[in-house]
Amino acid sequence: MAENKTAMVVSAHSADFVWRAGGAVALYAARGWKVVVVCLSFGERGESAKLWRESGMTMEKVKATRREEALCAAEILGAEVNFLDLGDYPMRIRDEVLYKLAGLYRDFRPEFILTHSLKDPYNFDHPIVSHAAQEARIIAQAHGHEPSIPVIGAPGVFLFEPHQPEQCEWKPQVFLDITPVWEKKFAAFKMMSAQEHLWNYYERVALQRGTQGARNSGRSHMKYGEAYQRIFPQVTDVFE
Ligand SMILES: [Zn+2]
Repeated sequence: MAENKTAMVVSAHSADFVWRAGGAVALYAARGWKVVVVCLSFGERGESAKLWRESGMTMEKVKATRREEALCAAEILGAEVNFLDLGDYPMRIRDEVLYKLAGLYRDFRPEFILTHSLKDPYNFDHPIVSHAAQEARIIAQAHGHEPSIPVIGAPGVFLFEPHQPEQCEWKPQVFLDITPVWEKKFAAFKMMSAQEHLWNYYERVALQRGTQGARNSGRSHMKYGEAYQRIFPQVTDVFE
């Protein structure tokens, strides 16, 4: 067990971390890591279409429902969630949000950070959050930013899979074997009832990445996978 280690996920909307990184969250939580998810919005405008079809729906009800769904999913996966409630579609990142994120990095001191792809022509919030997650990381590394609090090291940044990878110029460079925690990830999907149409879609994605992971590694037992793109080079003294 690695009780003192932390991983962080920076998610634009309240469900992104479930579809795109739920396996990583469950895997590391099962290893004894603290996993902290930061949801910058609830996805209340752009990713809650099913709720908006209900009569008498209000913004506050949508946000409360999405918050509850995300908390239930995070509990299944083993993460804690911070909601920043910045609003979505459009999302805008003010300097104080960067300072808030930098403060969270310094509080939790993650070994690695998972966030969105650099591009996404279908979703402007996702690359904005990817940019903010990386800019805040660099602020948290800056000795002149709040000098009384120790700077962070160089946590790796991994970009999780967007909905349509080819259009986002995103390439899978790391396959994470999530077979042991797949049941947890799918149980977390079921908490996201506002986006029921995505449950089977992301099961197919996991099966596809699992097959590719097995083929690239000889891990014959690997059935479910999550794929990530690296930002920074791997540093090693052995080729693997
Ligand atoms: Zn999203």
